[in-house]
Amino acid sequence: MKSRSPARHIFVTGGVVSSLGKGLTSAAIALLLGRRGYRVRLQKMDPYLNVDAGTMSPYQHGEVYVTEDGAETDLDLGHYERFTGVPCTRASNITAGRIYSNVLAREREGGYLGRTIQVIPHVTDEIKESIRALAEDGVDIVITEIGGTVGDIESLPFLEAIRQFRQEIGRSNGLFVHITLVPYIRAAGELKTKPSQQSVGVLRSIGIFPDILIARCERPMNPEHRDKLALFCNVEPKLVIEERDVAHTIYEVPLDLYRQELDVYILELLGLHVRPIAMTDWEQMVERLIHPGRGTVEIAVVGKYITLSDAYKSLYEALTHGGIANNVAVAIRRVESEKVETEGPDTCLAGCHGILVPGGFGDRGIEGKIAAIQYARERRIPFFGICLGLQCAVIEFARNRCGLAGAHSAEFAPDTPHPVIHLMESQTHVRQKGGTMRLGAWPCQLRTDSRAFEAYQRSIISERHRHRYEVNNAYRDLLESNGLRLTGLSPDGQLVEIIEIPDHPWFVGCQFHPEFQSTPLHAHPLFVRFVAAALHARDERKEGHA
Ligand code: GLN
Repeated sequence: MKSRSPARHIFVTGGVVSSLGKGLTSAAIALLLGRRGYRVRLQKMDPYLNVDAGTMSPYQHGEVYVTEDGAETDLDLGHYERFTGVPCTRASNITAGRIYSNVLAREREGGYLGRTIQVIPHVTDEIKESIRALAEDGVDIVITEIGGTVGDIESLPFLEAIRQFRQEIGRSNGLFVHITLVPYIRAAGELKTKPSQQSVGVLRSIGIFPDILIARCERPMNPEHRDKLALFCNVEPKLVIEERDVAHTIYEVPLDLYRQELDVYILELLGLHVRPIAMTDWEQMVERLIHPGRGTVEIAVVGKYITLSDAYKSLYEALTHGGIANNVAVAIRRVESEKVETEGPDTCLAGCHGILVPGGFGDRGIEGKIAAIQYARERRIPFFGICLGLQCAVIEFARNRCGLAGAHSAEFAPDTPHPVIHLMESQTHVRQKGGTMRLGAWPCQLRTDSRAFEAYQRSIISERHRHRYEVNNAYRDLLESNGLRLTGLSPDGQLVEIIEIPDHPWFVGCQFHPEFQSTPLHAHPLFVRFVAAALHARDERKEGHA
């Protein structure tokens, strides 16, 4: 039997400042190598001490991205999946908290046989084990992104672990990619390479010598900049890659790196065959995104974390994907739900072609979301409610169509006379916060005579969840008899997963998070239909005015 060659490893670090787009760059590299015919897996190491991102506020961390197997992870995993189309698992996001809790649990079990537990080797061994875990099952290339910035105290064990790892697998089986900032100093009218040199200096002092340097810059570098970086950072000039701020969309990043043949250099360094690549579909998608043929639709997203662009990352991307599929640009009007409470829905929502209420926790701004939904329902504006958005739609319908004054979710009003949304039976005894919601992919059965079925074109679907509360089955009959249809249920019929109002142009709510499965090449069917409905509303309105 022919033995497989060992998995190769690429380690991505960042220097100078945070927010350089290490996640996007890693995802773009994975896309290119995947398209060269290699099985690639991605992984993010986060140096913070939370065991996972699930307990962190969106203000701290941005969106919590949920994997199929129910891990609550860093939003970079969303980029990984959207670029490569390959689902991640819980092994794709490792935090220092997870590493330490594993080490400490083993220590309590007596797993270290009386030894003193130390960062080196015990913590670094645990990190290396998590890297190795991704290299199983015929994977050709593992890309490990180290979160944070080189020089942070908390990143040190991770950097030491990847240094050891590469030492152990040998130079030809692993490489280091370092991403830095080359700032433009307006007063001097120049790009500056010094911060990058210093960042590489810090890496070298801990024994890591980058093979490839990716320079993030807002202005183009000239050959002197490149030569200087190559000389001082000890990399070949062709391995200094320029990553300029993209003009239109993040989906240009892989094309940009492809033009500079980064993928070819990586394969050569790793001793892997440079197989042919096809990028036409991606190029066409980007072209369509930049120059859509059917103008713009405006969608209002009514949420609580609206000032933070990262809090609804996957959702905004999925709307963009829905736009690509419909050949239309989607302009997002970000509406703070509390503002709907103080200024009224008309002021905040007039003129938009669709209204979306996303997921969320906590009662701040809830009444604004409910008012926005009532506005969408009564004005017949396409509406899409996701998770908490579905729950608010049920509350609104119960109050205003079923005569249940004071109907609410037990999450926000434990004493409500009509808890139309209540705690799932399985959640009633849960006391611990972390990792205890209904998480990950669950099947759902659709009614065939529904908008949901129209979108999916099949009756069993699988979607990702992250919630504790659900529609209270005691109110199902009342809701249905007043015109709300429950068009998606868990296969045992016990949990309401999708609601619709048939007597409305497009009014759909889902208990799951469809945005996590949308990619630019395969927009999620519900987003495709929602944007199509908004486009229809826009065109009808235009005709109405003509
Ligand atoms: N807070 C709600 C629940 O726990 C909704 C969660 C969400 O929107 N992700 O059920």
